[in-house]
Amino acid sequence: MTAGSQQAAGQLPIAEPSHLRRAALELICRDARAFAGLIALNALAVGAGLAGPWLLGRIIDAVKAGGGATAVDRFTLAIVGCAAVQLVLTRYARLVGDRFGERTSARVRERFVDRVLALPVSVVERAGTGDVTTRGSTDVASVAVTLRDIGPDVLIAVVQALFILGAVFALDPLFGACAVVGLSGIYFAGRWYLRRARRAYLAEGAANSVLAELMATTASGARTIEAFGLQQRRISACQAAIERCRRTRMRTLFLRSVLLPSVDVSYVIPVVGVLLIGGVLHDHGAMSLGGVVASAMYLRQLSAPLDTILQRLEQLQSSSASFARVEGLGHAPQAPQAPQAPAGTDCAPADDRIELTGVRYAYDGGGDVLHGIDLSVKEGERLAIVGPSGAGKSTLSRLLAGIDAPRTGTVTVGGAPIRDLGPDLLRRQVVLITQEHHVFLGTVRDNLLIAAQTATDTELHAALAAVGAEWPDELPDGLDTELGAAGQRLDGSQAQQLALARVVLADPHTLILDEATALLDPSTARHTERALAAVLKGRTVIAIAHRLHTAHDADRIAVMEGGRITEHGTHDDLVTSDGAYAALWRSWHGERPS
Ligand code: ADP
Repeated sequence: MTAGSQQAAGQLPIAEPSHLRRAALELICRDARAFAGLIALNALAVGAGLAGPWLLGRIIDAVKAGGGATAVDRFTLAIVGCAAVQLVLTRYARLVGDRFGERTSARVRERFVDRVLALPVSVVERAGTGDVTTRGSTDVASVAVTLRDIGPDVLIAVVQALFILGAVFALDPLFGACAVVGLSGIYFAGRWYLRRARRAYLAEGAANSVLAELMATTASGARTIEAFGLQQRRISACQAAIERCRRTRMRTLFLRSVLLPSVDVSYVIPVVGVLLIGGVLHDHGAMSLGGVVASAMYLRQLSAPLDTILQRLEQLQSSSASFARVEGLGHAPQAPQAPQAPAGTDCAPADDRIELTGVRYAYDGGGDVLHGIDLSVKEGERLAIVGPSGAGKSTLSRLLAGIDAPRTGTVTVGGAPIRDLGPDLLRRQVVLITQEHHVFLGTVRDNLLIAAQTATDTELHAALAAVGAEWPDELPDGLDTELGAAGQRLDGSQAQQLALARVVLADPHTLILDEATALLDPSTARHTERALAAVLKGRTVIAIAHRLHTAHDADRIAVMEGGRITEHGTHDDLVTSDGAYAALWRSWHGERPS
């Protein structure tokens, strides 16, 4: 766990409230002028709005003092003028608020993308791409809505409420005190509600999900239910789920039935108090009638901003949870940065040899799954790693590809620790080939240049030809053809060829081939096996062999069992030594006479 975040094993971190406050402040400071403008404009708009009740009070006092139509007209004109100014200022404040919100949410998005791109593959794989996607879509969108709409709304409401209260205090401090005492009911009712609401709404949501799931599974498994005569059991289960829904719904309704009337009463109490006290003060000549009316009107106005704050409170809570998840990424481990030293200095690998020395590895919170692996792979060698499921072959392949770092021990290429190589340099040394042949949105050229940014069209065509891909030439715009959902769709073998052409362009000296994940669906296998053979040619190949004929064809075989290399040698050596490999070979050979 990093300071400022909390994190369950294997999950992406979530930022702590103290970090969130700092992050929000930092975002505001980045656009401090707009934020200050937003506050100032809102304050002016609210100030213009406050003039209305006060002028109305003046009209009443003027009429009471025997003032004529001229005085009334003058004040009425001033009221209309103030309303117009308020309208213009409010509109302008909204514009400034929207711009501030959009710019700030763009910053949140950009920072999120930077952080996601800096995440090591192993962290994303362990946390699951679903978590990253949800944070990048739902959570970022929720933060953006808050920044653009909810945040400014609440801010405006807070400014309004404070100004209105200030105006009441200015008219008479006794009226102000009366307002604060009356409105304190909202604070207590709100606190009572918020303490219970979260759990009640979560329970209601969970009960609804259970019911929906029960209904869906009952409908989809209707025939099975009928066949096994389970109707009564399903009906009872559904009835119980409906009852749970009813109970949880009643609970949330009860909470609202306490909160809403309490809030309504709290709005009325200060008005009644002001009218009663104001009446007495007026009778004793201590307060003008206009002042009493203006105060009562201000207090009626107070309900609008307070309503906004109460309504938005829940959304603010949920988007602050989203913000915590978005900001949490800042506490995830970072992928190694590209080395600062220029190529050719001692950071760069001296040759193509891969060495593992005393390598131990443990997944988060678990014991070691690799127990001291020593292995050396020569340039141009074909090494097959075999062993039963769970022996640690895939874990080893991820360490060899620099995706994970060993807990202790070293994995080096040409003497340089593989995890210290930046992505550009690493890509030219070792590439792990898996079944994931992702087609990126963009043109065929964009998809290829990912592997070699400076490659010319001739080199791109040569790479495609090397993997037997002729289809790009037949596309309407050749290398400029857009791929993806809105453009040209590729079938499985084309996508794999594109991925393999990328490997040709990256031109690593070593390929790690995890057969379990590099295996293809039978319809594309023939095509791609040929392309794969072309890619493997002339390179060091470390194959995690699940088919023994791959091992048979290799220069050397390492047998893994329980996180250790237990046997080591050529196929013939291992068969002669009559160990685990020989037994495996005999059983496989016995089943498949060639
Ligand atoms: P193989 O490729 O030989 O089948 P693996 O490298 O996948 O073996 O697994 C080696 C050991 O590590 C196994 O005990 C497996 O349960 C464990 N393991 C693999 N992946 C994870 C993971 N993501 N989290 C925790 N343990 C894992």
